[in-house]
Amino acid sequence: MNEFPEDWRLHGQEEFLKGASLTLRTWSSPDPHWDHDHCEFCWAKIAATSIPDAVQEGYATADLKHWVCRQCFADFQEQFAWASQGLSP
Ligand SMILES: [Zn+2]
Repeated sequence: MNEFPEDWRLHGQEEFLKGASLTLRTWSSPDPHWDHDHCEFCWAKIAATSIPDAVQEGYATADLKHWVCRQCFADFQEQFAWASQGLSP
């Protein structure tokens, strides 16, 4: 068995997400022509309630350029040294 199996969701995100400050928030559009984002890891759709098959909240960087779904945040929080802002203790 491989002690550290490569996760299929990993493809270099540490370059821009390692140690990032992520905040749990409800998705909102930064632009009227922009109706969804994707989780940087599993590519889950994060969008407004009007979008089918999407989740409505996730962890976002301050500039809202990168989103991470709850599941991937939980899975990679330690590896990427994320601070969990926006959570009640
Ligand atoms: Zn994900």
